Formats: sequence, structure tokens, C-alpha cells
Amino acid sequence: MLFDERPKSNREDLFDRDRELGELLDNIHRPIILLTGIRRIGKTSILRVALNMVDTEYILIDGRGLKPNYGFKDLYNLLSSAFSRSGSRILELIKDVRGVKILGSGVEFSWGGRESLDLIELFDRLNSRRVIVAIDEAQYFRGPQSNIMRSLLAHSYDYNDNITFILTGSEVGLLHDFLLLDDPDSPLYGRYIHNITIGRFGRDESIEFLRRGFNEAGLEIDPWLMEKAVDLFDGIPGWLTFFGNRYVSGIRRMEDIIDMAVNMAVKELRSICRTERYRYVLKGIAEGLDSWSKIKRYIEEREKRTVSDSILSKVIRSLEDMSIISEYKFLDPVHQLAARKL
Ligand code: ADP
Ligand code: MG
Repeated sequence: MLFDERPKSNREDLFDRDRELGELLDNIHRPIILLTGIRRIGKTSILRVALNMVDTEYILIDGRGLKPNYGFKDLYNLLSSAFSRSGSRILELIKDVRGVKILGSGVEFSWGGRESLDLIELFDRLNSRRVIVAIDEAQYFRGPQSNIMRSLLAHSYDYNDNITFILTGSEVGLLHDFLLLDDPDSPLYGRYIHNITIGRFGRDESIEFLRRGFNEAGLEIDPWLMEKAVDLFDGIPGWLTFFGNRYVSGIRRMEDIIDMAVNMAVKELRSICRTERYRYVLKGIAEGLDSWSKIKRYIEEREKRTVSDSILSKVIRSLEDMSIISEYKFLDPVHQLAARKL
């Protein structure tokens, strides 16, 4: 079903994306591939459909399971649960590695003591078969322990020809902060990494997406309403899906559906506003302020105090790194509506 709100995993449920899937499958033997694009653009869906299409064992790790400043224990927990979900053929490969304990269909990794698991050894063993390691929202691996994963990626890049990593990231700047490809001190420095950018649907594609979805659901919808949704959601498949899903479930007023979407986006923005200044920057940009000096004046008027240039730059850069704004514009129109309500 096109309007199912979960990420898609079957080719027939994924609308279009022929080019992106083709590029991913054509490059599937490379050491590291990135799938980048804003939230709700369809990265997880494309990743899962591709994993289902190739006849290769895979491990799927959700980076969002890591908290900021995660430690060894958190990392090993995340990895062991991903390996537990991967299936018996992978568990069979790693069962004799020091620090690995297989219990039924689950697996435990130890991170300390004499029996501690060395991740490099684990991945060297994995390399005895062709395996894809997919890391969804990989920017969550940033943090004090990020070098563990970077070294593992670099080691596998150089020695484990059978392993392909596919990393996705909604927050493109933060993903690059994790990988540190341009930092001579980083283990991944200078490596070629194939990047596939997932873009939004064009206008015709968006209309066709909704038409197909409503058709599947056996519902007629006013073409004018469909046009309105397409204008508003600007080709972001996740919002189009949200719109279709809500409409089909009985909510027929466009305003109500928009409110629900905006409320979700407000929560997202609140969770990233580390200080009051983030809120003002977002509000200012939502009101159309399109330069550094305009935003600075706007905050100073509200706070009745001077704002340091370096702090303001930091806030703006951080919103750019999170792929919320670019060149003083919101990348997602729903975020722009939400920012006015912050
Ligand atoms: P991301 O991982 O980029 O945040 P998801 O893959 O979770 O995006 O997609 C967001 C929502 O949009 C999900 O409900 C998903 O089912 C839907 N979706 C995204 N792309 C497509 C597509 N090409 N066809 C059908 N549904 C899609
Ligand atoms: Mg996702």
C-alpha cells in the first residue's frame, strides 16, 4: 500500500525511484555507499527495498538507537541486537569469535574483560561471506566513541572485500562530522565513498503518487484538493503519504491534516532547539528573513541584548548541519509552518 506510513520494503509498494534504486544496485559492491536526503524523503524505504532485491545476507543497524555520548556498552548493545535480527547464516559465521555468545536466535557481545569482543575480528570473520552492513541514520554514531566505528569502516574498506556498508543520513552535515572524510587524522581520510542523493518528487510525480494511492484505497478525491496537497508538501513523499493516509482514515478537511503534520513538525523542531536562540533563528527564517544581519537584528530586538557573532554563526551552522535550513530557507515547508508556532 502506497499510503502505509511505515518505510516500504517491497519493490511494488515503492513508488518510482527507479533511478535511485538502479544506482544503488549498480554500486552495491563498493566498500561504502551513502544515501542522503532530508527526513521523510524515502531513504529507509529505498534502503530496505534494495536489501530485499539483492540476494545477499545483510545486517540492518538503526543509528537512532544510540544516545548522544554513547559508550561501549551502548554500541555493543546496538550491534548485538542488529546481529540478532540478521538470521542464522550470519550468526553461524561469527559464532566462534571471541566475546560472541549465541543463545537460540539471539547473540550477546562482551565489551570488557578477557573475553571481550574485538569488532575488527568480528568483521574479518563476517567477510568470509558476502555481507551488506546497512546503517540507517549513521550520523548518530558521532560522539566520543565515534572513532571505533570509523576505524572499523576504514579497516573493512581496505581489507574486507566482501563487505559493503550502506549508510543513510538525514542530517548531512552531521553525517560528514561522523565520517571525517576530509580530516587527515581520520581513518577514513581520502577514501572514495559513493554518495546517492535522494531528492523530492517533481510536481507530476507527486500528483501521480497521490492518484495511485487513492486508487489503491478505492477512494475518489477532489483533484483540486490533490493539487493543494502537492503545492504544500513540495514533493516530499513522507508528507504525501501522511496526507493520503490521514485522508483515507477519514479526516477530510485539508486544514485538519495540515495541523496534524505541523504539530508533528513542531515537536521535531522543539527537540532540536538547544537554546532560546535556536527558536528565534527558526522563527526569523520562517518569517522570511534571509540574511545573517537581518536575523541578528531580529534576535537582538527580541532579547533586548547584543548577540555575539560567533554564537549566531554556530546556531545557523548547526541548523544547516541538521539539514533543517539551507541558505536561510527551510528545506521542508512543513518545518517552516511549524517554526512560526515555536
Ligand atoms: P526517510 O528514511 O528518508 O525518513 P522513509 O523511507 O521513512 O523516509 O519514508 C517516509 C514515508 O514516506 C514512509 O511512510 C514511506 O512509506 C513513504 N515513502 C517514501 N518514499 C516512498 C516511495 N517512493 N513510495 C511510497 N512510499 C514512500
Ligand atoms: Mg529513515
